[in-house]
Amino acid sequence: MQVTDELIRNVVQEVLSGLRSGRAVLTGNGQTRKWGVFEDVNSAVAAAVEAQRAFEQRGLEDRRKAVACVRRICSEQAETLGREELQETKIGRLAHKIEKLKVIADRIPGVEFLRTEAFSGENGITLQEFAPFGVIGVITPVTHSLPTLACNAINMLAAGNALVCNPHPSGARIACKGVRLFNQAIHDAIGIDNLLTILSTPTLESAQAIFDHRDIRMLCVTGGPAVGRAALRSPKRAIVAGPGNPPVVVDETADLENAARSIVIGGAYDNNLLCIGEKEVFAVAGIFDELLEAMTQYNAVRLDAKQIEALTKVAFVKGPDEKHPLVVNKDLIGQDAALLAERAGFKVRAETELLFGETTEANPFVEHEQMMPFIPFVRVPDVDTAIALAKKYEHGFKHTAIMHSRNVEAITRMGREMDTTLFVQNGPSTAGLGSGGEGYLSFSIATPTGEGVTTPLTFTRQRRSTTVGSMRVL
Ligand code: NAD
Repeated sequence: MQVTDELIRNVVQEVLSGLRSGRAVLTGNGQTRKWGVFEDVNSAVAAAVEAQRAFEQRGLEDRRKAVACVRRICSEQAETLGREELQETKIGRLAHKIEKLKVIADRIPGVEFLRTEAFSGENGITLQEFAPFGVIGVITPVTHSLPTLACNAINMLAAGNALVCNPHPSGARIACKGVRLFNQAIHDAIGIDNLLTILSTPTLESAQAIFDHRDIRMLCVTGGPAVGRAALRSPKRAIVAGPGNPPVVVDETADLENAARSIVIGGAYDNNLLCIGEKEVFAVAGIFDELLEAMTQYNAVRLDAKQIEALTKVAFVKGPDEKHPLVVNKDLIGQDAALLAERAGFKVRAETELLFGETTEANPFVEHEQMMPFIPFVRVPDVDTAIALAKKYEHGFKHTAIMHSRNVEAITRMGREMDTTLFVQNGPSTAGLGSGGEGYLSFSIATPTGEGVTTPLTFTRQRRSTTVGSMRVL
């Protein structure tokens, strides 16, 4: 290990803060505690294995306490942590970075989700229970580095697991800080350290080493197509929360004010970084102009054809091969609408939520998951054409689709046709994760592997106990 000034500063700070709080800073063998942050995969896995074994011996109350530590830190320190995440990743919006941490306190399900199933009859009783897997390998995206880690941690700890995380390199500092804080609080609460471990310098090689490690029992991967494919190639059970390109269909029966407001709320959230966020709209000709007019009431700015052309030129760059002639310009991902405009050579007000405008389906903003606050609107003759195009440009990810309509038959048709994990009607995409809609939240929506919005149950093994001929007390 290289002894740098920063390392020395961190150790001194850690010792001082440990002394102030009365928290143990030295392990049994006299080494400084790492609070879950490791330089190499083997050490991280070994520490997590040891922690998980100790955790497994404890009751549900200790799981509740561990989960409560993660919730409390996310909620109490949301402002600081959100700000630091934005400073490090340089994508998205401060208010939403903070909100994403705050909602972790009450919207992510915990231990209460593990309800034992029971069968009772003349032959006795059978209990079906949900047991931990052990140590889970976790990959997190840059778009919500700490929120994804914290959400995975709550689900996994509630189910009795420990985890080893390979964070996105551009969001590693904040993820490591979160792990340190969570472990310190959990250690104070239940006396176990390293239930969460993380690589301080993550690489593709360290991700692969986690995939291949024999003590890792399961993987949970949240990210784009490449990492999803890598996880699916692993012989381990993998929960893959993959990419999306959520289309919106608006038909002539829709409440246009609500549709416009919803598209702005979902599409502008954190500058369109959400995997569920509205990415392209197919609207029928009968209401097309009225819908675009309505958008301007919600702090969205309509671009003309020339402005869209200029923005498209800077928003996409040459791809690696003939199969991918264009890719999204990473420098513009998650940037403010005003900055996109400036790069394209025009000005909009700094507080503009979203840019939008009419394009054909051939515009790359339709095909690509842009993750920036410009939404293309494509004019179509009827709702069936809109649904067909929505299906085409969702690319079979089976992630998220949104519809604005009061025609229940059209809604049913689109729901069946899209076959997506989330299908939201008459609200913003965020309603599909319980913000203004019903249901719980997760930052990992398992799409190709089919587990859906992940919960503590996703990270359990089912075990059955059967008692023959007795224990039915009726
Ligand atoms: P990304 O794919 O660039 O990175 C995700 C993670 O995978 C990072 O930790 C990265 O270091 C790692 N990684 C990338 N290629 C890898 C490989 N070949 N082997 C091992 N690890 C690899 O994605 P991103 O830009 O961080 O996040 C945005 C993407 O994630 C979008 O496509 C978005 O839709 C998706 N996403 C999905 C969900 C969901 O719940 N389904 C949630 C958030 C983000």
